[in-house]
Amino acid sequence: MAEETIFSKIIRREIPADIIYQDELVTAFRDISPRAPTHILIIPNVEVETSNDVLPEHEAALGRLFTVAAKIARQEGIAEEGYRLIVNCNKHGGQEVYHIHMHLLGGRPLGPMLA
Ligand code: 5GP
Repeated sequence: MAEETIFSKIIRREIPADIIYQDELVTAFRDISPRAPTHILIIPNVEVETSNDVLPEHEAALGRLFTVAAKIARQEGIAEEGYRLIVNCNKHGGQEVYHIHMHLLGGRPLGPMLA
């Protein structure tokens, strides 16, 4: 079992967050430090630390990240112009919070993918 992070408290609504979507598998909320006009984190409700820890039993929740990302992108009005979905893994990937999450970034041209 993965160690709990602040994201688990957000899922349980024990600390404030701007939650814009939640169902039995995933939760989506605005990033506290947005890097683009739209910057939303979409996370499975189950604790999975990194993409290295993904198991077949997580496929439904992790697949849901994509359907929810597309739904939110349409709601935010960024689907046609486009956006970026990012999952960081471990130190070299720039992961800070060890509860796997998908970043949904958009609302401006994001430039080349690799810095
Ligand atoms: P990572 O670098 O792990 O891929 O991204 C973690 C993201 O979580 C960062 O963009 C950071 O701003 C965001 N974050 C960290 N703590 C909180 C928090 O307490 N609330 C919200 N809404 N976002 C957070």
